[in-house]
Amino acid sequence: MTTEPALRVRGIRKNFGDHAALDGVDLDVADGEVVTVIGPSGSGKSTLIRCVHQLETIDSGAIHLDDELLGHERHRGALRPLSARRVAAQRGRMSMVFQQFHLIPHFTVERNITEAPVRVHGRSREEAETEARALLERVGLADRAGHYPRQLSGGQQQRVAIARAVAARPRVMLFDEPTSALDPELVEEVLGVMRQLAADGMTMVVVTHEIAFAREVADRCVFMEAGRIVESGTPDEMLTNPRTARLRSFLSRHH
Ligand code: ADP
Ligand code: MG
Repeated sequence: MTTEPALRVRGIRKNFGDHAALDGVDLDVADGEVVTVIGPSGSGKSTLIRCVHQLETIDSGAIHLDDELLGHERHRGALRPLSARRVAAQRGRMSMVFQQFHLIPHFTVERNITEAPVRVHGRSREEAETEARALLERVGLADRAGHYPRQLSGGQQQRVAIARAVAARPRVMLFDEPTSALDPELVEEVLGVMRQLAADGMTMVVVTHEIAFAREVADRCVFMEAGRIVESGTPDEMLTNPRTARLRSFLSRHH
């Protein structure tokens, strides 16, 4: 039996001016799979997941979430862009976690988590609050529900941001270097939460420079350079025995 991937990226290109940020990228992510994306600065990692999340429009190629084409629809044999409203609905099926946590400063931790489920997904406040408390428990912040973001450490704020992302019940979670704004001693608590999500079966694409984490949690790892996926495979084969000189040289600089 073949199962359709949760996420299917085919031949996507994205130019900024005359610079190809993505130069033909293919990526499949199976249901429950964790794919980590590594590569030098400027190689297109953020652009890739921003295109998936419909924060950027692609110039060519196609992205499917389950069987749904993202950003466009077929009309009389041609592709035409979806309305902003329908793109927003598609975006709502995924959650992205950013390097900067982007919590709303004047909302409590709990309200940061309940706001989108109540306002966007139409859940009752009571249901959303019950779920928020369960999520805070899961990320080890059960006692912080009534705090404001400024009262939390960076690691705690990022754990709240992850709880908020999970509250949207995403089909796929996208992470863009979620630990790179953190003091080194706070990195592990955030990676721990992500490790738990992965173990719970969440489908995840994680851009990271934490090579040890990329190796440990990933089912598959991809290495990008200059807008392309240069190498991909299981983390063990790829990170232990890189085939390309470019990955070898990248790893020697990041260990
Ligand atoms: P990475 O996340 O791997 O560091 P990015 O995806 O952010 O790389 O960027 C890939 C390339 O696209 C870089 O050369 C970057 O300068 C360029 N780029 C990204 N976003 C924009 C933008 N909004 N406008 C112009 N160029 C951009
Ligand atoms: Mg980036």
